[in-house]
Amino acid sequence: MRRFPFRAVLAGVLTAAVGPFALAVVASPAQAAVTFSSAAVNRNGGNCVDLYNNDTSDGARLVQWSCHGGANQNLTFTPVSGASDQYTVRTSAGKCLDVNGASTADNAVIIQWSCHNGNNQRVRLVAVSVSGTDKTFNLQVVHSGKCVVPAGGSSASGADLVQLPCDSTPARVWRLAGFTTDGGGSGGTWNPPARLVDPLNRVWSHYEQTYGNLYGFRNYGWDQIMANGGYVNYCVRWDSAASVSASQRDQIHAALQRQFKKWMDQMLDNGQAWNNWPYTNVPVRVVGWAVRNRAQLQWSDSSVDVYVNNINENAPQCAPECGRFFNQGGDYSRCPGGASRHYDMSLWLTAGMSGGAGGDWGQRVGSEYFVGNLNSENIHIYLHEVGHTFGLDDFYDWDPLPGEGFIMRAGSASQITEFDKWMFRDFWRHLKSRYGR
Ligand SMILES: [Zn+2]
Repeated sequence: MRRFPFRAVLAGVLTAAVGPFALAVVASPAQAAVTFSSAAVNRNGGNCVDLYNNDTSDGARLVQWSCHGGANQNLTFTPVSGASDQYTVRTSAGKCLDVNGASTADNAVIIQWSCHNGNNQRVRLVAVSVSGTDKTFNLQVVHSGKCVVPAGGSSASGADLVQLPCDSTPARVWRLAGFTTDGGGSGGTWNPPARLVDPLNRVWSHYEQTYGNLYGFRNYGWDQIMANGGYVNYCVRWDSAASVSASQRDQIHAALQRQFKKWMDQMLDNGQAWNNWPYTNVPVRVVGWAVRNRAQLQWSDSSVDVYVNNINENAPQCAPECGRFFNQGGDYSRCPGGASRHYDMSLWLTAGMSGGAGGDWGQRVGSEYFVGNLNSENIHIYLHEVGHTFGLDDFYDWDPLPGEGFIMRAGSASQITEFDKWMFRDFWRHLKSRYGR
């Protein structure tokens, strides 16, 4: 098998016993971030973020203190322009919550400092579902990815605030009673249906615990589209002895475009791209076909580059010099067709295969399965594998949403569901800062 930088697990065989899964079409109100003021109440001790002694100087420390409603416990959250879920947090002194020295270390202290819009003064509000209440968040500092927390997880009034790795334990969760969005505007934000919030948080925590390089990996489908400026190129690895007509070639391309679009459409609300995702349409190009014997391909035009008998993993492949998987720096100077004929993903079609595999390198499914489903509404094994290309996980050993199927839990749904949509969006939400979005 191929090298898999992140998981690319063989899906179990999907049986025909897949029930009808109604896709609830819920128009999510687009919500833009707006400025709001609030106390921040810790979920562990019930204390408030407090500007100690109402000190107005640069470097004054922020602590937690018994909540008393005073001005020095009132924080003003102002959205950072162009970053929909980031805020600067001003104290009553008009200065900004700041990680001292822009340290990325655990236990670096939280102070106030004159506002300069640096990433150590930007806080991402990451919703954490808490039973019985609402508006509960991790306060995640952008430069470090760590969270504002009382030192040692203390519940004592007077404890200093520091940064520590984020999780959903009560000491790291704050309730912002004044949190609001304007309910209008454009761009959308993190507003999944309430019943999905907790499952989504659990899924993301699971990624954080099990992916060795979740935030450092840079070849997700997201990265591929961003690198191209809004499209994907495919190579078809025809791992079969069957012949392919020009018409079949074109139908495979059309099906690929239709199916891939089903995922891309999850990033749209009423035709508008969600949460600073830049593209309302992501074209799929097929730039190459790889085959054992040129005679299998029954066309003579040059609409795609053809690679003959370049065998890897016991299957034909397009030239590695053209593949993003092999050239993640984006240097395609040795690609025979040039950079425009580079491919981001392979559609690897293997004769006699049931199930599939997916990863940053592309998707692999049975050739008979794919060709036999060219006009199916949902080529569901392919859809599942595309989910892996964008970082989504399998759910063989646990189920965050019991009783409801979804495409990433193989065999439980035959189409992308609302839960799949929000898992997909969650990836973009967490990665987009690398693109300044
Ligand atoms: Zn899978």
